[in-house]
Amino acid sequence: MEQNKYSLVIVGFGGMGSYHVQLIEPCERLAVTGVYDVVDYRLELGAAKGFKTYDSLEAVLSDETVDVVLIATPNDVHKDIAIRALTAGKHVICEKPVTVDSADLSDILEVAKETDRVFMVHQNRRWDEDFLIIQDLIEKKKIGEVFHLESRVQGANGIPGDWRQLKAYGGGMLLDWGVHLLDQLLLLTGSKIDSVTAELSTILGTEVDDGFTSFIRFKDGLTAVIEVGTTNFIKLPRWYVKGTEGTAIIRDWDLSGEIVVNNPDVAKVEPKPIQAGQGLTKTMAPPSEESTLRLPIEKAQSTKQSFYDNFVSVIEGKSEPLVKNEEVHRVLRLIETIFEAAEKRAVLKDLEL
Ligand code: NAD
Repeated sequence: MEQNKYSLVIVGFGGMGSYHVQLIEPCERLAVTGVYDVVDYRLELGAAKGFKTYDSLEAVLSDETVDVVLIATPNDVHKDIAIRALTAGKHVICEKPVTVDSADLSDILEVAKETDRVFMVHQNRRWDEDFLIIQDLIEKKKIGEVFHLESRVQGANGIPGDWRQLKAYGGGMLLDWGVHLLDQLLLLTGSKIDSVTAELSTILGTEVDDGFTSFIRFKDGLTAVIEVGTTNFIKLPRWYVKGTEGTAIIRDWDLSGEIVVNNPDVAKVEPKPIQAGQGLTKTMAPPSEESTLRLPIEKAQSTKQSFYDNFVSVIEGKSEPLVKNEEVHRVLRLIETIFEAAEKRAVLKDLEL
């Protein structure tokens, strides 16, 4: 440690690895000092930014000035690098999905325990503003008791054309974006999961899923649709949430959306029938303007990204990790359950999850 800062080396200096440099900048107690990548060009980019470059992982791990290894390689090698780094006495931050299955994560955690090193997974989308708004809305019961939610990310550009298309690298959208949406979902309820069913999308003909739709029922009755798509020329909303007193929608990353709730000060007004196609309907008429309130999506209280500060605090024994390894392990078990449900075309019930 130099000047009261932990020295951190990024292993895998690609898209996300280089983005970490700017994310870590504001953290007063962590300094990116070096990079290692298997591609020379990526090392040259690191050198151009003034970082020390290493020509092997062994060189990183035998450098006693290095305190922390941050893993931002493709998913298949996270486990090996993590175990070697922990064994060499380094603390580790690992990108998501931490591993391609939950047994691999258990192996890493065993080594972290034996070596008494901190191992934390970068589940950064826990600090996304759209998620924080939904979390706040549920906690404060702004639309009553939430009984159903739908969380989606959709694009029209297919799977980025590299390792994400290949099974051997831990590719596919369930492991890539699914891990974020499922991590967020499990933070929205304290309930255990009751049942899971799912369908993987393979429209693009890749050997991995180009998206998926899953339907998850919790033991407390909450139901959720979690969906990732890469073949959607028109998107569905990012969030659609139904509660006993209203409905909330967040359409996109720009946080456009609205909340419609029963007005507690006005007695319910019977809706008037509307013309719908060739018929009239009262059932499908919008709620009356008089007895409902239309509220804007309000900014969340705090969106400060505190992952790295927390990591340092955990190393120093001052805080509990904000991303707990048990939570990450549960998300991986849910992903395995989704793969199994899709393969069997079944509703998997009586889950210990
Ligand atoms: P990328 O392909 O842009 O970068 C990966 C880099 O790792 C490349 O430069 C590659 O040469 C290097 N590499 C490959 N094998 C290596 C090895 N054995 N040792 C050292 N370097 C190696 O991929 P990316 O989009 O940056 O994704 C990297 C990781 O970050 C993945 O796990 C991905 O899921 C994750 N990621 C997370 C987020 C997030 O928001 N948390 C966003 C994007 C990617």
